[in-house]
This record gives sequence, structure tokens and C-alpha cells, in this order.
Amino acid sequence: MHSPALAAPQLSALPGHWLRLDAGGRVLGADAALLARLGRSGSAEGQPFGSWLTPASSVLWVTALWPALASQGRLMEVLIDLAVQTAGPAEGWPALSSWVARTDDGVPSFVGLLMPGQERKRLLAELRLARDSLESMPGAVLQIQADAGGRLHFPYASSQLLDLFGVTPLQALSAPQRLLDALAPASRAALERTVAEALATDLARWMVVLTPRGHPERRVELAARRAAQPTLWHGVLTDVSERESLQHELRQRAETDALTRLPNRPALLAHIRQRLDAGQPFALLFMDCDRFKQINDSLGHDAGDELLRHLAQRLRHGLRPADALMSVSPEVPASVAARLGGDEFVVLADGVADAAAASAIADRLVLAMARPYTLRGMELVASVSVGMVMAEPGSTAEQLMRDADTAMYEAKRRSRGGWVLFEPEMHQRVARSLALEGDLRQALQAGQVRAAFQPIIEIASGRVVGMEALARWHHPVRGEVPPAQFIPVAEESGLIVELGEAMLRTACTRFAGWRQQGLRLPARLSVNLSRAQLSDRNLPARLGELLAECGLPCSALQLEVTESMAMAMGDASARPLLLALRALGVQLSLDDFGTGHSSLAALQHLPVQQVKIDRAFVQEIETSAYHRALVQAALQVAKALSLEVVAEGVETAAQARLLAELGCTRAQGWLYARALEADAVAGFLASEVPRVLGDQHP
Ligand code: C2E
Ligand code: CA
Ligand code: CA
Repeated sequence: MHSPALAAPQLSALPGHWLRLDAGGRVLGADAALLARLGRSGSAEGQPFGSWLTPASSVLWVTALWPALASQGRLMEVLIDLAVQTAGPAEGWPALSSWVARTDDGVPSFVGLLMPGQERKRLLAELRLARDSLESMPGAVLQIQADAGGRLHFPYASSQLLDLFGVTPLQALSAPQRLLDALAPASRAALERTVAEALATDLARWMVVLTPRGHPERRVELAARRAAQPTLWHGVLTDVSERESLQHELRQRAETDALTRLPNRPALLAHIRQRLDAGQPFALLFMDCDRFKQINDSLGHDAGDELLRHLAQRLRHGLRPADALMSVSPEVPASVAARLGGDEFVVLADGVADAAAASAIADRLVLAMARPYTLRGMELVASVSVGMVMAEPGSTAEQLMRDADTAMYEAKRRSRGGWVLFEPEMHQRVARSLALEGDLRQALQAGQVRAAFQPIIEIASGRVVGMEALARWHHPVRGEVPPAQFIPVAEESGLIVELGEAMLRTACTRFAGWRQQGLRLPARLSVNLSRAQLSDRNLPARLGELLAECGLPCSALQLEVTESMAMAMGDASARPLLLALRALGVQLSLDDFGTGHSSLAALQHLPVQQVKIDRAFVQEIETSAYHRALVQAALQVAKALSLEVVAEGVETAAQARLLAELGCTRAQGWLYARALEADAVAGFLASEVPRVLGDQHP
């Protein structure tokens, strides 16, 4: 009925294997190699072809493939799995089969040509794997194609496109406009422009950052690479929002002062340069806390940090855009407050074009900062000094910072808690004081700083009861330099420690020498002590040695500490030192009383035996009721505390008389004597000049 032999010669000429089915789909024959491969003997004919297949393939054959072949007469390139008898039922031999109906030998039949499907199957699996990995990538894959009119198409997109832009790959493919519309207008323009440029310049790679419409915070990077076709690019879309916000945070951190969260010096410099480049007017206000070191030393670093945070907070509030003087328009960047480090802050006041406006800001700043702070339950006042400079065309950021800094020093020099506008002459003053500093250093090394001695007089008797050593410096070129000039320079440069030591040594040596000569000397020698010397813990020990070397008892020395050090005397750091000096037997005197901020009440806590009322009060004592009242009050408190009082700067007998009436027993001043050169002291002490009040004013 059938004749496989007939077909065999023709079919066996073909590559691969063949199979012949009858009109009912039963096997008529197959080539020997196939039979061998499937582990079937020659007697397999007549079985339904479905039973030659693996179960899964069989179902497909019976339900879809065979009906299609039977009705259409052909079936091209379908993958089937032939069951291998020698293996398990699920084990199959994959084959790519194409089928056609044949009637050439009079028997209606179907002939199938089978190619080994292994390769095809592997490719398919690979393709599936590739698609899976594309779909599981963190970003999306997108093909971009430009048509002849420059319009964009997206031939392929992976499914993540939906997450990024809310558009499915199919939508992107069928309606490119939908994807373009899903981009923020600026992003869309950027994409179209970039592609146009890539086409025009034959660019192989390009990149553009896209923002989905309605999500300004999201940033999606599209990195594309040209395909073999010049108008097609393979692109990868990556959501970089997180990375960018991280970068932003890192940048922010690098530009922020960790303690106060204010911009730091580099950030401030960048702000200044940006304004300078834009030619925008602004003023710089350089601010330094007047007593920060003192607060830090006495209350501890934690308290110091807290104060700095308070200062920063006030600065921030002061710069609120609600402030009429600050810029409110969004185009103009707001004013900036920055911390340079330590207790130095700078305010960049934007849009400030004239000194009057800048002064108003400085006034407010100084006032705002001077309000008391509450630190660990304590009220505390910390004034600031401010140096100000206006931006000039052609100036650099560094220049402006230096000028503002210079003006700040000038503000400190003049009076603390105020502000000063920079003037170019200030640099000359700074240069002069630098030169003076150099000269002073040399003079100290060469022993050219000498001591002069001003007597302290008992008003009632005219007796010399004390002597204050005062520093004198003869400059080889400038001649005599007043202490009011070189003492501040010494204090700023730290030379004051050396100068103080030198004064102690010279004055004590002289005084001891006069004692040995048997002069009618007062019991005590007064020497000024600077604040910086108080931070030296070894001072009491060294002083003890020095006095021993000179052969001077400790009780013969009185150290004068200024009233501005009164605060320091309450310090945890300075107080033990003062007590150690006391323990040594050295006397302590509070100098310049009335000029600082210390109160009469503070006197009881200070370990001093003497108070010196400042010259300013003595000068006004006859004319100002206030000054007289203060002197009177000081005298009463001193009496109650058994403190000795000396009035400084007494120039007239009337002043001396009034002071005596108020109960002051001792005075120092030109009425009695100016500071005497060392070699004039003996003569003065021996002179019989009447110094009793009654003698001069009978
Ligand atoms: P001071 O400690 O208050 O010294 C008293 C100043 O008043 C001295 O000025 C003295 O010459 C001046 N004086 C005395 N009587 C009169 C008077 O009747 N009328 C006027 N107008 N002035 C009078 P001097 O010597 O110029 O010293 C100025 C300041 O320099 C001192 O003020 C003191 O603070 C500082 N100083 C001087 N020598 C030293 C020193 O060796 N060490 C330290 N740390 N400071 C010193
Ligand atoms: Ca003094
Ligand atoms: Ca004084």
C-alpha cells in the first residue's frame, strides 16, 4: 500500500532526516539514521506520529500542528521534540521540522524534513536569557532611531521603561510621541537636540540626563551608543536621582561647617567669587567674638561650642530674607553667613551698594549678637567686633577677606563690641605695627626695654608708700615709643610674655639693689602683669626663683592685674594661678578699676589686696557727680573688704584733697611725680620736697 523505498532515494539526498506520514498522520517511513537515533526498529510504521514525540510536544502536535498541516498542506520550521526510546519518556531529540503534502507516488502523504534543533533551541534559550537579564537590569534598555525627518522612534524598549517614565515598551514602540510627552519639556528638547547633534557630527556615543514630566526631583541618565546603522542607537537608561542626591549631600558636607551647619570658608569664597564675577554689589562683614577664648577656657570647650552654635543661629536669623535690607527677589541669591573657624564668622550682605546700608547692617549685627546668651542656665554676654568692606570692581575674594579682617582688628583696637569700615590706611597701620613688632622683638633681645618707676604717695603724709615699674623703650630711629603704642603690639604678638618677664627681672633687680644701698624705699614694688602671663602655670615657681636670686622677699612685690582680667580671675584656669601667687606671699592689685565691666560686687570674690581707681575717674571727680559717686562707692566697698585703694592719675592738689575727703589714702600721679628713670629714683627719695597737701595748700 505504501512504498517508502520509492521515496527514499530522493529524500535521502537531502541533508538531515526525513519522515513520511500518511493522510491520517501515521508514520509511513523514516530514514534509517533517524530510526537509529530514536532507538526505533524498522517495524515502527503505522503508529500515529504523535506517539513518536515527547508528551509535551505530542500535545502540541495533536492539538495544533497536525490540524494545521492537514488543512494547509504545509508547516514551516516548527520545533518538535522526538521521543528517544532508549532514554526516559521526557527525554527528547529536538528537531526543526518543515512539512509538505505529497502525492507524487499516488499516495497522499506528508513528508517532513527534520534538521537537528539543538542549535536553534540553544539560541532560543540564550535569547530568553538575554531578555531576562535585560529586564532584570537596574535601568531600562531603549533603542532610539531617527527617521529621515529627524523624528525619534523607539524600536525597542525593556519593560522598566514603565517604571521610569510611565510608558510601556509597546506604547513607546507604537506611539513614540507618548514617550516624548512623558519627559519634562526641557528634557525632551535636550534629547532631540542631542540626537540631532549626534547625527550631524557623526557622534558614536552621547549622553543626556532626562527628567520625567511632573517629577523634577528625578533624574534619569540616558547613555547611548551608535548601532551598525548610523541612525540607530542602543541606549541604557539609569535612574541617577539617588546618586545625584548623594553627590549633592557630599558636596554639601564638604562646604559646611560641621559645628554650626553654616557654609565654611571655601564655600564662602565661592559665593564671593560668584558675586564678583556677576558684578553684583555686596559688603563683607567680618565678625569676631570678643571674649570667646576666655569663655572657652573658663567654661570648657563644650560650652564654647554651644556659644558658637548660638552665634550662628543669631546670624542666620539676622539674615532672614524678610529683612528689608536683604535681597528678597528669588533671582538674587540671598545673603550668606559663614563660619571661617574658631570664633570668626563672615556675613556676605548681598545687594548692599553703599556704606550707609552696610553700616545699618553692622549696627544690627552688633546689637543682635550683644544680647545675653543663656548657656547651661547661665546668662552670658559675648559682644562681637565687626570689620566691614565693600566689594569694589577688580577686587579679589582673598583681598576682600583680608581687608575685612584688617578692619575687624581695627574695630577691636578701638573698642570692643563695635564695627569699623575698612580704609586702605589700615593696612599701613597694620604694616607699621608689624614693623614695630619686629623692632620690639629685637629690643627685648638686646635688653633695650627698661623700667621707669612712678612713686605711690600716702596723701596725708606725702610719704612714698609704693612704686610702680613702667616699661620704657627708646627706639633707635623713632626715639621714645609710648607704652600705649608698644604694649598693645606686644599683647597682640605674644611678645608681652617676654616683655613682662624682662620687666619683672629688671625692676626687681633694681629694687633689690636700692634696698641693699639702704635707700628710704617703700615697702613694696608694683609690677604690671599681663593676661598672657597668667596662662603660664610655671609663673609662681619662676617668680619665686627670680625673687630669691635678687634677694627680695615675696612680700615686697605687688603684681598689678587689669580690671579686664577680673573676668579671668573668676576663671577656672586663672584663679588657681592667682591663689598660687598669693600663697607665695606676693601681693595682688586690681589695676584700672572702673574701666572694665566688673562690678563692685565682684570685688569680694577677687583675691586682691589693692584696687587702683582708673585715671578716667580721677580726672572727672571734680566735674562729674557720677564719677565722684562711683569713686565713693568703690572706696566704701574697699573699706568694708579691707582693701587698700590707690587713685591713679592725680594731677592736681584739688583732686588729691577731694580724694582724701572721700576716704582715699593713696595716690599716684603727676602731682607728685612722673615715672622716674631708674637713676633718678635715689634723688627723688632723698629730696625734701614737701608733698603733704597741707604744705602746698595752706
Ligand atoms: P597703667 O598700669 O595704668 O600705668 C599708669 C599709666 O598712667 C602710666 O602710663 C603712667 O605714666 C600714667 N600716669 C601716671 N600718672 C599720671 C598722671 O597724673 N596723668 C596722666 N595723664 N598719666 C599718668 P604709661 O607708662 O604710658 O603706661 C601705660 C600703660 O601701659 C600702663 O598703664 C600699663 O597698662 C601699660 N604698661 C606699662 N608698663 C607695663 C609693663 O611693664 N607690663 C605691662 N603688662 N603693661 C605695662
Ligand atoms: Ca599699672
Ligand atoms: Ca592703671
